Amino acid sequence: MTTKVRTRFAPSPTGYLHIGGARTTLYNWLFARHHGGEFILRIEDTDEVRSTPESVTAILDSIQWLGLDWDEGPVDGTASKGPRGPYYQMQRVAIYREHLERLLKDGKAYRCYCTKEELDEMRRLAQLEKRPPRYDGRCRSLTDAKRRELEAAGRKPSVRFKMPTDGATIVDDRIRGKVSFENSLQQDLVIWKTTDGPTYNFACVIDDHLMELSHVIRGDEHLSNTPSQIQIYRALGWEPPVFAHLSMIMGPDGGKLSKRHGATSVLEYRDQGYLPHTMRNYLALLGWSTPDSQQLFTDPELIAKFDLAGCQKSPATFDTVKLQWMNGEYLRATSLDEVVKLAGPFLEKAGLTGKPGPDLKRTIALEHEKFKLLSEVPELVSFFYERPAEPAPKAAKVLGAPGAKDVLLGLAELLKNGSEPFEDKALEARIRAFCAEKGLKAGQVFHPLRAAVSGRTEGPTLFLMLEVMGREEVLARLKAAAERLG
Ligand code: GLU
Repeated sequence: MTTKVRTRFAPSPTGYLHIGGARTTLYNWLFARHHGGEFILRIEDTDEVRSTPESVTAILDSIQWLGLDWDEGPVDGTASKGPRGPYYQMQRVAIYREHLERLLKDGKAYRCYCTKEELDEMRRLAQLEKRPPRYDGRCRSLTDAKRRELEAAGRKPSVRFKMPTDGATIVDDRIRGKVSFENSLQQDLVIWKTTDGPTYNFACVIDDHLMELSHVIRGDEHLSNTPSQIQIYRALGWEPPVFAHLSMIMGPDGGKLSKRHGATSVLEYRDQGYLPHTMRNYLALLGWSTPDSQQLFTDPELIAKFDLAGCQKSPATFDTVKLQWMNGEYLRATSLDEVVKLAGPFLEKAGLTGKPGPDLKRTIALEHEKFKLLSEVPELVSFFYERPAEPAPKAAKVLGAPGAKDVLLGLAELLKNGSEPFEDKALEARIRAFCAEKGLKAGQVFHPLRAAVSGRTEGPTLFLMLEVMGREEVLARLKAAAERLG
């Protein structure tokens, strides 16, 4: 029995890392870190048709972005680090073959010569008779002579594992409790393909054993594979690891989380401006909770508190509103310098870097309390760096109000004196005095002023915004807006 906690994430590189996979990675990582154990990453690339190097890169990038480090596993697209490697399954085929030979020799597996047409026919009959589609075991006891005959006829065999035909296999799952599977309802799984390579269920068992994993924590779509995997462990004389199957993730409408609910790829969340820490915190709560329902966690708290006992059996619901709320909380808790740095790529993408205008630190500071996503930043500050060619429709309406032009010209006159301080409080006092002197309500002045200067009807606090923009630019914009009014 392995005593050291060793967990793994074992993605098939057939696409990006989705939310479910990210949660599985996180739970395995948290569990290993909680117990001072090791977290292993293994690439299950045995599906030659669907596995791609791009998917490997996307998965590694996603896990790295999430800030989850692995102790053993790939270091790039082909190389691995760690004493039980390689950690790419296609580099381990010789190991699987060795174990296959052992099962064949012991009579625990057999070659199956059935063609695709024969298997399809079996399935069709089962459907017709309303039985679960299941291989009927016709190649289980072929004579050597029959086998030679089939091979001479050019048939390429697969290899099937001999499942017990009676009794039940109990999966003692840490989250679901004991789940019993009737052996008679399980099929003799293909463990070796006609194309001469292992299938997932076979390679997975061998690796989980040889890599000395103590716990297999994975999505519940794999629960149904577990009885066969347990039987393969037994056939090889090995002790299975502890299993824990995580509940499904649903969208807000109660359907399985999918593209129609929005982004499902981890990298899309990065590109929308979520913080890795938000994702760690949010995903941790997607199927796990503490007795006191704590919502916000530091990383050390998550590591200290995470356990399988707090994992729920029932499906978890992905809630974008909560995710955004949490990101807003963490962005506010992030220092302004750091936020400016993090917003860099988003500003660059929007073409806002290197433009003349106020220091980004000052413009972003005006909105730091407000935004929930880093991707909102460019839009919030862009008007400081790009003079609005046309005011937005609502702002145009404000500027079209009678008397607006006079207000703008009056303000330009009021603010042009370079010896007066151009600073928040002083500006407010002077502009309020201007209102009083002209017999205007504050709104009759503040609204056109904001609309003229920013081209918008909403934005940062008015006088701070003016201060940050600077006298010259404010005057230029007031005049341009007045001219536009004809
Ligand atoms: N390679 C499998 C998948 O991506 C994971 C299997 C496992 O965790 O056992 O679904």
